[in-house]
Amino acid sequence: MNTEPRRCTRCILPESFPGISFNVDGVCSICQEYDKEWGHINEDYFKKSEKKLKRILNNAKKLKRRYDCLVPLSGGKDSTYVLYLCKRVYNLNVLAVNFNNGYQTDEAFQNVKQAANILDVDLIIYKPRWETTKKLTRGFLKATGEGCTPCNVGVGLTISRIAQLEKIPLIMNGISPRSDERSPRTIYASGGEYFMKVVKRNALLKDIRSTIYEDQVRQLSFWHRFTRKITRMTLMDQGVFRFLPKNMFVRNSIPLVIPKYVEWNEDTIFNTIRNELNWKESEVGKEHTDCMLNPLKCYLRHQRWGFGSKTQKYSALIRDGQMDREEALKLITDEGDVPKNLEKVKKVLEIDTEEFESIKQQYHGDYI
Ligand SMILES: [Zn+2]
Repeated sequence: MNTEPRRCTRCILPESFPGISFNVDGVCSICQEYDKEWGHINEDYFKKSEKKLKRILNNAKKLKRRYDCLVPLSGGKDSTYVLYLCKRVYNLNVLAVNFNNGYQTDEAFQNVKQAANILDVDLIIYKPRWETTKKLTRGFLKATGEGCTPCNVGVGLTISRIAQLEKIPLIMNGISPRSDERSPRTIYASGGEYFMKVVKRNALLKDIRSTIYEDQVRQLSFWHRFTRKITRMTLMDQGVFRFLPKNMFVRNSIPLVIPKYVEWNEDTIFNTIRNELNWKESEVGKEHTDCMLNPLKCYLRHQRWGFGSKTQKYSALIRDGQMDREEALKLITDEGDVPKNLEKVKKVLEIDTEEFESIKQQYHGDYI
């Protein structure tokens, strides 16, 4: 019996992808959206958008703060490349911040230290206490079947706290809207509101007291959102703010998605960071090499939906002209396999077999 699902004729997304539809040629709606949004881009587009990027960076430089930007550095490929661009190519005063969630791979730790040394930038490593991290990850896994949100939220809160202390205008981000997976909230939900909902409903509030995670409450406040908006308008050079002294208005840092402005080619990225920064991948693989929990995340997603992050990532690369469809289909054949490091992960998180079976049944959908 052929159990191979129907897939988009251009990328490899299967029909089980939530909300997907196909046109008469069998091309999926996600590919069609990509074409609408990015189909027109060419060299000329990037010339113009890089100019725009440089103008924003100059606005930040003119503030003459100690640091022009903060780079969250996980030791994975994109953040390492962002650090390289900011320092080597755009000549910014950079502060690198590494958030260690306790599941950081040894290779990622080496990549972080090495990149900071070679590029000669200041580096802060922040590791919240282990018991808190473990309780949150376990709590989220048991309630929602995903354990990534505490880390994502933790990174966001840590970098925005440090950025605020140092008055850093820009926080750099290396997630490409063209070549990285984009998941609807039914597949993956993150963000402060979702985080707080899970925390409150699962009696985890006491566990985040007096930790960095408590900052989430402040981040959701009206004042915080309002001042961030003003900072964004000021730095991006829009409207009336163009004529006013910038230093007055830049109170909060704003995130800047670098791949929106420049080409984000995987081969170029890997070649650059391997050659220039001696970057190495871990047993987890080339993608998300920084976290030992990533294979678990992919496995749990595959259990629920019949496809994992690899299918999504490679689909994005195919759309962006960076991967061949046949090659992608070959690379996903092992996607549903039990992660090689599963026993290690279960031991670290103190999860027994019964708990693991229950985690496989959980779904974050009740909280979105
Ligand atoms: Zn498609």
